[in-house]
Amino acid sequence: MRPIKGDLKLMKALNRTAILQLFHSKGTLTRVEIAKLANLTPTTVSSQVDGLVNEGFLDELGKTDSNSVGRKAIKLEITRSKGYIIVVCLSAQSFTCSLVNFHGEIIEEIHSPSKAGNKSACDFIEDGIPRLMKIAKVKKIEKIKGISVVSPGIIDEQNGVIKFSRVLEIHDLQIKKILEDKYKFNIEVINDMNASVFAEHYYGLNNVYKNLLYISIEEGIGSGIIINEQIYSGFNGSAGEIGHTCVDPDGITCSCGNKGCIETILTIPFILLRAQEAAQAASDAVVPENFDDVISMYEQGAEWIQPIMEQALQVMSQTFALLFNFLSPEILIVNGWPTRSEKFVQEMKKKLEEFPFPTPNSSSRIVFKKLEHNQMIIGAAIWLFQGLFSGTLFSKRHTSLDEEFLNHLEK
Ligand SMILES: [Zn+2]
Repeated sequence: MRPIKGDLKLMKALNRTAILQLFHSKGTLTRVEIAKLANLTPTTVSSQVDGLVNEGFLDELGKTDSNSVGRKAIKLEITRSKGYIIVVCLSAQSFTCSLVNFHGEIIEEIHSPSKAGNKSACDFIEDGIPRLMKIAKVKKIEKIKGISVVSPGIIDEQNGVIKFSRVLEIHDLQIKKILEDKYKFNIEVINDMNASVFAEHYYGLNNVYKNLLYISIEEGIGSGIIINEQIYSGFNGSAGEIGHTCVDPDGITCSCGNKGCIETILTIPFILLRAQEAAQAASDAVVPENFDDVISMYEQGAEWIQPIMEQALQVMSQTFALLFNFLSPEILIVNGWPTRSEKFVQEMKKKLEEFPFPTPNSSSRIVFKKLEHNQMIIGAAIWLFQGLFSGTLFSKRHTSLDEEFLNHLEK
C-alpha cells in the first residue's frame, strides 16, 4: 500500500476537524496541548490554529503560565459570539427553535406545542426561524452558519428527509429541500437519538468513551450508536430500531402491526394500558389515570402492578444483555421513564447483577441518566458545526473518507 500523500485539502480538513473536536471535548487548550493531544506537529497546529482564529472560529483568551520553558502560553477556545447555528427540534412533547453559538451554548429559544403531521412541522419551521432571529436580534444573516433539524424516526440524512416518524405522524417530509429554497445556509436533518449520543460522546460522562450506546425508553424506544467515535446509522438510517423485536409471539399487537414487540412491554402507552386493566381486575385498586400514577403506585408497592413491572425488568435486562453481547459497548446510557423511578432503577441494578452477562462487568457499564432537552439541541448544533469543517456530516464522514482514501489508493 502506497502512503497517502498530496491531498493537502483533505489533510487540512481532517486536521481542522480533529482540532475542533478536541476543543468541543476539552473546552480551552493551548497550542502545545493541541499538538500533544492531536498528535500533530507544532508547525501544523500553529498554521491551523492561526487560520481558525483569523476566520473567527477560535478566540485567544489571554496568557497562562507555562511551567516548561517559562514562557506564557495562550489559551484558546471556540468563539462564543462570531457565529451561530439554528437548531429546530421536533419532539412528541414540543417543537423548539434555538439559536446556539459555536461553543454549544443556547442563546435564545422559542417553543410551541407539538402537533402531528407534515404541515404542522413545516408551519412551525417556516414561522419559527424568522421569529427566532427577530427575538435574538440577529441582524447580520451571515452570522448564521447552518440549520440543524432534529426529529425522531427514520431519517435520510444524506438527502435531509424525515422519511417516517410515527409519533409525529410525518411521512416523507423533504425538509432540507424546503429550507434550501428559502435559505442559503448549510442544512442538516438528524435523528434525535443520534444527536443525543453525539452530545454524550462530547460532553457527557467525561467524554472518554469511543464506543457507546444510548437507549431511550419512553413513548417509544429509540437508540443511538457510536462505534469507534463514529455515529452508526445503518442502511437507510434505520439502525437501532430494537423496540420492534418480538419477545412474546402471543403478546399484544404493537403499533407496527406485529405481536409482542419489546415496545409492547417496555413503553409508557402499553404499560399504562396494562396497568389500567390490571387495576380494574383487582378488587380494591385505584385505576391509574396517567403514567405518573403508575409510577407512584409501583413505588408504594401496589401488588397488582408488580407482575407488569417484573416483566418489564425481565425484558429490559434481556434486551441490555443482547446489546452487550452483540456490540460490546464501553458504556450503555439508558434514559426515559425508568429514570423517573428510583425503585425501578434499584431493582434493575439488582437484576443486572444477577443476570448472567457473558462479558465480565457488563452491568457496571450501564448508566441510568435523565435526558436533558438541551443536550439534544447542543448535539445537533455541534454536529453541524463540525460537519462544516470536514466537508461531510459526522455520520457520513467514515464512508465519505473511505471513498476518498480508496480513490487515492487507486491512483
Ligand atoms: Zn412493533
